[in-house]
Parts: sequence; structure tokens; C-alpha cells
Amino acid sequence: MKELNTSYDYVIIGSGFGGSVSALRLAEKGYSILVIEKGKWFSAEDFPKSNWHIRKWLWAPALRCFGFFKMTYLNHVTILSGVGVGGGSLTYANTLPIPKSTFFKTGSWAKLSNWEEELKPHYSTAFRMLGASKNKGFGPADKLVEELAQDMDRPEHFDAPHVAVYFGESGKTVEDPYFDGKGPTRTGCIQCGACMTGCKHNAKNTLDKNYLYLAQQLGAQIIAEHEVYDIIPKDKKRGSTGYTIHFRNSYGRKKSKMIRANHVIFSGGVLGTVPLLLQLKAKKSLPHLSDMVGRNIRTNNESLLGITSTSKKAKDFTQGVAIGSIFNLDKHSHLEPVRYGKGSGFFRLLSIPHVHHKWAIVRLLGVLGVIITKPVTFFKTLFKSKFSESTVILLFMQNLESTLRLQLGRITPLKTSVESGPTPSGYIPEAANLAQAVGNKIEGIPYANFTDVVLGTPTTAHILGGAVMGESIESGVIDKQNNVFGYENMMICDGSMISSNPGVNPSLTITAISELAMSKIKPKLSNSSSNSKQIQEHV
Ligand SMILES: Cc1cc2nc3c(=O)[nH]c(=O)nc-3n(C[C@H](O)[C@H](O)[C@H](O)COP(=O)(O)OP(=O)(O)OC[C@H]3O[C@@H](n4cnc5c(N)ncnc54)[C@H](O)[C@@H]3O)c2cc1C
Ligand code: SF4
Repeated sequence: MKELNTSYDYVIIGSGFGGSVSALRLAEKGYSILVIEKGKWFSAEDFPKSNWHIRKWLWAPALRCFGFFKMTYLNHVTILSGVGVGGGSLTYANTLPIPKSTFFKTGSWAKLSNWEEELKPHYSTAFRMLGASKNKGFGPADKLVEELAQDMDRPEHFDAPHVAVYFGESGKTVEDPYFDGKGPTRTGCIQCGACMTGCKHNAKNTLDKNYLYLAQQLGAQIIAEHEVYDIIPKDKKRGSTGYTIHFRNSYGRKKSKMIRANHVIFSGGVLGTVPLLLQLKAKKSLPHLSDMVGRNIRTNNESLLGITSTSKKAKDFTQGVAIGSIFNLDKHSHLEPVRYGKGSGFFRLLSIPHVHHKWAIVRLLGVLGVIITKPVTFFKTLFKSKFSESTVILLFMQNLESTLRLQLGRITPLKTSVESGPTPSGYIPEAANLAQAVGNKIEGIPYANFTDVVLGTPTTAHILGGAVMGESIESGVIDKQNNVFGYENMMICDGSMISSNPGVNPSLTITAISELAMSKIKPKLSNSSSNSKQIQEHV
């Protein structure tokens, strides 16, 4: 990598969806950019063959695991997220739905704009940049959910989602099909279902293959394996003269580095940005941040349930892309069948039969009850030789309101408390019924992450909020153009800005809102001409 400068126009913290959009759009406008990313660079050969290669898959530096998939256990929710150059795109399931109207009209941002209209062109740009196209072909897991839709007299509400995958000729590599030859080569998807353990086949359109790739062509620098831990306004002003950014190696934590920037963009995702803001406010590096930091955290009202078929006639559920279909159950709820690729059976270690009761002891007795009443199914599932091939995961999401608050903890680094609405639960009756219906079809019993059953808390891959938009510093952390209240030259572009519950997978929305925010920034006057042509070409 090129040596770092001592100062940049913009330092971007994190290289997920919000960070990548910011890097490209600002580089196009002629600004000097440094992206600092906690995780590693990954190329096709770095991805593990399955999630049993824990060191290559999991991000848990304390256990010497330097992969890209992270699990965070909090009081009210277990969170799945991505770490690495490309953020969550490395491990995500590529699905890119647009939320229903309610999303744009509720929450702390509702009155700030006609979001549905204003974001329309930016959703189109996001689709194009992420290489979204409708999934081609349903695998057996999709067909199961299609059957469910028929059983429920809603076949017209079952559809193929847009996914960020290149569907050229299977296995054939071609020159960049998306950006007039300026992007990298792509290879046609082979429908192996392994998108969430990293695509080893160059078919998944991760952010390092679009936004970040193009940003680097325009001079943006990316430093991986470094974590930002402090940001101090220069001259003790509120950022009008810029900031010093302190960062260190993500593992050793010894060599601290410092860089100056005129502007800072927080793009560390909810689990990166929100704890960092809380720390900076607490230690008085950024004391004027809104008291809303950490508030309005949403779990997307999610449920993840796995059903392993014990039938000898079971089809191979790994066929297809990670999420190949979507069933719109009603105006609030969606169901998506999710799959891992062949051999990825790690989650069998963390799953137990899904049982609901308000008391933990009764839930545990219920698990015992399942073992006693369905011993054959239970033990067949436990020792199933082709676990991922036999397993359908159901991802259920709802856009109903309920929020949590994230705070720094005394005993644990972070703690949550319920802020509004019902306490998020590991049990959503509609989801449990659907899982049971699938179980009946494939001779399996619904399983959940052990925390869902033991603690009664849900697991989500879509944690959102914590730095939401508002009219003023009293109601939000950022304004409607993503500028941080209380400081100048500071923005937030990532999942923490999401200000209501989308009820669907959020990456497209994070991309679109970041596109909108970046579109408001004027080109740099001194050398905007050099990259302005690119602006026309990519927008
Ligand atoms: C298994 C799985 C499947 C998913 N499937 C889908 C899907 O199909 N569709 C969908 O829309 N969404 C999906 N998601 C969710 C999606 O990945 C996230 O919503 C999205 O990545 C969030 O984007 P972001 O911009 O907030 O930042 P992220 O993508 O979370 O990226 C933030 C980056 O910042 C880095 N970072 C954090 N703190 C620091 C720091 N202090 N210094 C330096 N770097 C830092 C992190 O390492 C990370 O790489 C899935 C998630 C998971 C885990
Ligand atoms: S299904 Fe396989 S080839 Fe296609 S995008 Fe996913 S991992 Fe890549």
C-alpha cells in the first residue's frame, strides 16, 4: 500500500456499505480519502471452505480468529455482523429489498423529508452500483416457501428478490460487466449457496468489487487491520478546523498512529460507530454529541429458525444463492429461506429446539420435553451427516416498532435496555408457526440459537439505529443530511443512521441514504475537474 499522508480531506471509519459509498463519491469529487478498516482484506482464496474453519470465518481476535463474521452477545439481543474490507458485504446474503412505505413515514426522521420520493433515484443508483438483479432460479428451499405461500392462499406474494450477484454464464469469467470496463472481472454464479461464508467464485458483488474498487482507482486509500479509537477536534473547536484521528493495529494495540483530517465520517456499522461515539462522549473527546447517541436501536423484529430434515428423501437445500426468494406475509412481515453452502454446519453447535415460555426454566424443561417426545427426530438432527444440505433457515422480519438503548457497561463493554415498545423476544408466534409448517413438510423440528431459548432474546443480522436522524440535537444525533449535531465537518453514514424499522434486509437502504448524503456534498474546488467526468459516469 502507498504510504499514508499526514492529513486527508476525509477520513472514513469503516468500509461497509455507508463507508464505501462515501469513499467513492468523495473521491469522484476530488477529495483525498483515507478509509480505516478494523478487519482484513479478503480475496477469493482467503475465504474458508465452510464455517468449520473457524479461524478463517469468525472475527474474534481474543481467540486468534481473524475472519469476517462476528457474533456479539448483549442483554436483549445476539447480533451477527461483518468485519473486513467491504464490511457486512463479505458475509451478507446479497438480498436487496426496498422497504414498504411505513418505513419512510415513521420514526425520528419521518417529518424531515418525503423520504420515499427523495430516495427513489438513490435506490436506483444503489441497485446499479451493487449489481443487483432478480435471482435466477429457485432451489428446493425456495420451492418449500413457495408451497407455504400457496398453502396460505398468497402465491402472488412469493417472489424472487434482487440480489447482488453476477448471473452470467455459470463459472465463466468475463471483463467487468457493470462499470464500462473500469471494474474488476466477474464470474457467473454457480448457485453453491455459500455466499455467507464468502464467495470463492468471484460472483458475489461485494463492496471491494464495486464502490471500494472504483474509489481506489480514483486515489482513495484503504488501511486495513487498524481500528480508530479517538477523535479530537483541532484547536479544541467543534471541528471547524478539522480533527486528529487516533488509530492502532487491531490486534497488538501497541503502535498508535495519528492522522489529521478536515472531515470525519463514521461508517463503522452500529457495533462500530455507536460504541465509539459513546466512548468519545464519555471521555470528553467529543462532549457535545447529542444525548441521543445509543438510543433508538432496532432489531428489525427478527427471528432466525433452522429446520433440519430427517427424511431420507430430503432434497439438497444448499442449491441456489444464500437467499433466493421472499414471501411477503402481510403489510408488516416478510419471510426468506436462507442457506449455507455444503459442509457449513457450525451452527448445529449453537442451536437447540425452539421452545417458548416466559420463564427460562420452563423453556429448558420444554427442550427436555422435545428430546423425550421426539427422540428419533432430535438425535437424527444432532448427528445428521449432511447438516447444511438438509437444513432450511427461515428468516422472519417485521417492521413493527420497538427500540432498545445501547450504553457503555461497567461489567461488560456494552449493555442494552428496553426503551420503547415490547421487549424483543426470541419467540415470534407467526415465525414459530411457519417454522412448524416447514418442519411438518420436511420431517424436522424448529431449532433456534441457544440464546433465543435460554435467555429468551432474539438473534438478528440487521441491527440498526443508535445515531438516528432528528430535527435537532434533542431528537437525533444527525440532521437529515447526515451531519452530526454539535460538530462541524462530521457525518455518520451506516446502519446507525437508520431511523425507523425497515422490516426487511437493510443494506440497499443504507447504500441509498449514503448516496443521498454524498450527493449534497459539493466537489472540491481545487481539483474537482480531474474526477468530475467520473461523477457523470458512475451516477
Ligand atoms: C450473515 C449475515 C447476512 C446478512 N444478509 C443480508 C442481506 O442479505 N441483505 C442485507 O441487506 N443485509 C444483510 N445483512 C446485514 C448487512 O450486512 C448490514 O446491515 C450492513 O453490512 C451494515 O452496513 P454498514 O454500512 O452499517 O456497515 P458494516 O457493513 O457493518 O461495516 C462496518 C465496518 O466498519 C468496521 N469498523 C467498525 N468499527 C471500526 C473502527 N473503530 N475502526 C475501523 N473500522 C471499524 C467494521 O470492521 C466493518 O467492516 C447480513 C448480515 C449478516 C451478518
Ligand atoms: S451462490 Fe456461490 S457462486 Fe453464487 S454468489 Fe453465492 S457463493 Fe458465489
